[in-house]
Amino acid sequence: MTDSRIPADLPDHIQHYIDGAFVDSIDGDTFDVFDPVTNQTYTTASAGKKADIELAVAAAKRAFDEGPWPRMLPRERSRVLHRIADIVESRDARLAELESYDSGLPITQALGQARRAAENFRFFADLIVAQADDAFKVPGKQMNYVNRKPIGVAGLITPWNTPFMLESWKLGPALATGNTVVLKPAEFTPLSASLWAGIFEEAGLPKGVFNLVNGLGEDAGDALVKHPDVPLISFTGESRTGQIIFGNAAPFLKGLSMELGGKSPAVVFADADLEAAVDATIFGVFSLNGERCTAGSRILVERSIYEEFVERYAAQAERVKVGYPHDPETEVGALVHPEHYDKVMSYVEIGKTEGRLVAGGGRPEGFEEGNFVAPTVFADVSPDARIFQEEIFGPVVAITPFDSDDEALALANNTKYGLAAYIWTNDLKRAHNFAQSVEAGMVWLNSNNVRDLRTPFGGVKASGLGHEGGYRSIDFYTDQQSVHITL
Ligand code: NAD
Repeated sequence: MTDSRIPADLPDHIQHYIDGAFVDSIDGDTFDVFDPVTNQTYTTASAGKKADIELAVAAAKRAFDEGPWPRMLPRERSRVLHRIADIVESRDARLAELESYDSGLPITQALGQARRAAENFRFFADLIVAQADDAFKVPGKQMNYVNRKPIGVAGLITPWNTPFMLESWKLGPALATGNTVVLKPAEFTPLSASLWAGIFEEAGLPKGVFNLVNGLGEDAGDALVKHPDVPLISFTGESRTGQIIFGNAAPFLKGLSMELGGKSPAVVFADADLEAAVDATIFGVFSLNGERCTAGSRILVERSIYEEFVERYAAQAERVKVGYPHDPETEVGALVHPEHYDKVMSYVEIGKTEGRLVAGGGRPEGFEEGNFVAPTVFADVSPDARIFQEEIFGPVVAITPFDSDDEALALANNTKYGLAAYIWTNDLKRAHNFAQSVEAGMVWLNSNNVRDLRTPFGGVKASGLGHEGGYRSIDFYTDQQSVHITL
């Protein structure tokens, strides 16, 4: 391994950004940040607590109550957002390099995520000027119209799997609608989030509108959720964390958007285009190191093609290239953190007692250190197996046969989650009927996981609460006030 994998000019410390200035925690506390290839500490980050959150929320509240941002015309805010998109785009290579180093994501995929972050800003910059609100008239009697208003300080709490992109997914609409924000990024991956402040300053975002506090979820995240001056929390993370946040926000009756875990099925019928289904289901669970909320991590295959599918799938999984995250040839990099690596590896061991191991099953050859896991495939997994039911969030997939459409649907719906579903069949009616019945917030028919930003994003059951995406994000980040006039 050479040093060429280490980006130039890494910070030796990552600070909070509050009221337009980079600052340390009031108590001076820090936490270590690891490089997932060596698990050595490469930098430290300020560990925010309640007192730091209080400063950040006070700054955001001041900017909301007194500053220009909520009062600007949508067109003016839109220009700032477009400049943000331009800057992100112009730095995509550097962003990808830092993100890949900090998170272990393959560099080519990190580059795609950086571009998607720019696209998120551009999309909400356009949407906010296209926004049309309802007006209802009863001729000669009454006129009603809707005032749409920013709500205040939005608390944004994000996970580590595609950190910069997921932050943009919340920052874009929260800012476009005129709110001010406090972002609490994931503690495993604080590096790329530290770039937002410079980007926003350069784009002309007024002081105090964007604030960032690093720190652990149970400290900084918890304080943000419990702060009375934060009326909105947009959270992406584990379902269990979502439950805790839901409880903690309840006394304040906060607006909540929850994008949570998944264990999404990919259902392959015998009449499907098998090659396309194999390619897509390989990508669906092994891209982003399997650390993808919408991963198709349970593959259900019709019995008549089951053995052929398993054989082809296992052979293709063995060909997925595991490598160092900075290498453009790499398809699966290093998992984010040794704690997460241990969790994924424990499921690999559980899987060996629950299914038939047909690919992977441990550390890939040649990678003696770091968080590397070979793409792992278990066949003949029964629906009550833990690897069928529990979110692993790594490059591990369970394959299960089915005999009928009804059984496929029952198996697909047989988890507590309901984020995404992927269906492979050439029978048009079956595809649409299955989509209608499957318990999933998003369905892809004969398609790779590609999202149109205008569509609703969110899960059902334990996978989430509420929807963001397109106008639903605008709805979440604004109050809609009806005004009635007697004519
Ligand atoms: P996590 O729940 O451990 O942490 C997410 C964030 O919440 C982090 O910033 C963390 O510090 C913070 N947090 C933790 N405890 C908190 C508390 N008590 N109060 C406030 N904040 C707290 O999740 P993770 O391990 O970072 O991310 C992986 C999970 O995210 C997976 O379950 C994955 O499916 C899910 N995810 C969902 C989506 C989606 O859109 N549905 C997208 C990406 C990831």
